[in-house]
This record gives sequence, C-alpha cells and structure tokens, in this order.
Amino acid sequence: MIPYRLVLFDIDGTLISLPGKAAEVVQEAIYSVLGSSFHLPYQSFSGRTDWEIFRDTVSHYGENPENHPGWSSFCDVYSNLFMQSVNSDHLIVHPGGFELLESLEDDGNFMVGLLTGNIREMATFKLSLAGLADFFEFGAFGDDHWIRENLGPLAKKRAEMISGETFTGSEIWVVGDSPRDVQTAKFIEANCIGVTNGKHSAEELRHAGSPFVVRHLNEVAPVLLNSR
Ligand SMILES: [Mg+2]
Repeated sequence: MIPYRLVLFDIDGTLISLPGKAAEVVQEAIYSVLGSSFHLPYQSFSGRTDWEIFRDTVSHYGENPENHPGWSSFCDVYSNLFMQSVNSDHLIVHPGGFELLESLEDDGNFMVGLLTGNIREMATFKLSLAGLADFFEFGAFGDDHWIRENLGPLAKKRAEMISGETFTGSEIWVVGDSPRDVQTAKFIEANCIGVTNGKHSAEELRHAGSPFVVRHLNEVAPVLLNSR
C-alpha cells in the first residue's frame, strides 16, 4: 500500500516572490503602529515569521516583545496596507507551482498544507493573487507562533485532525527556499526539498541539511513520486 503523505509548502521565495514590496509594506506598517523611529533591524526577512520580525523590531528598541500591545494592530495595519498596495503585477509566481500542486491533488496520495511565516490573512491573500489559494485547506502561520520551528508540529497536528491520518516524520515533506525551512523540517524529523527560487543557494540549503535541492518547482513532483 502506498503511504499517504503530507507535503508542507513555504510561500515566499518558494511558490511566489514579491521583490522589494514586502519589506516596504512591513516597514510602513511598523511606522504606522510603533512610530517613525522604529526601523526594521534587518533587510532580509527570509525564513522569518511575521511575528518574529515584529518582536525583533520592538526588542531592538528596548521594548518587551512579550504580549506587546502593538502586535494585533500591526497585523491589521499590515494586512490592510498590503491589500491596498500589492496586486498581481508585483508578484512573481514561480513556474511549475500550479502544475505541481495539481499533480499532487490528482495523485490522491498526498495531503498538501502551508508552513509559512506569513500571518494567515496574508498567506491567503498572496496565494489568491497567485491563483494557488484553492489548493490549500490548512496550514501553520506566522501568527500561530513567532518561532518558525514551532509551526511544524502545529501543521502536522492540524493535518492529522483534518485527515484522521497519523503522519510519521518520513511521511512528511517540507518544500521551502530557506535554511529555516530545512531546520523546521528537521525539528519534526521530516524530509525536505530545498528550492533555489528564493535568495538562498543550493549550497546553503545543502549545508543546512536539505537532502534534496532543486532549481525549479517542476523538479519537486518527481522527488515526491519517487519517494514511495
Ligand atoms: Mg521562504
């Protein structure tokens, strides 16, 4: 019998990219909620959760990130600004994603979900712009926990609740573009496929411990289908 498997997808740098735009909108939302003296402490958001970015920013300015009163306003302002200012023209939809998700759906032996640092609302919005939202019924998101690694067990738990199946680590695959995706996969003893659509090289992903690294999304399905 072919085991039923769970495939968890990262969004930014994996299925889509939004060159420059995300950082601009996050910074604008931070200014709006915290004040114009709060600059983001780093340039690259790669692999970080939205909550982690918010927490790092307030910590950088000496504020306690625990239960910070600005977090929920930030989520609202960020979502609103993003939806007002970003449209499909800003988005790169990486080739092969739609076909990959369609082939996993047609195969019938894969359950797909999200494992992303995006807050839920943004994940849905970005995937809707890309025409990929309908493939995803569930996931773990950047407003579920600020530590990305903690999203893995949550995604697994949600998948098991929805499907009634139990997934062992070897029956779970994480598809992502950053070393944090690889670490998140390792944390739940899952397999990982690194995709070099984003800002990280094959070498970086291999060094992080990804056993599979591919250049394009259309190379992902063969890895999954051959894993039987
Ligand atoms: Mg990513």
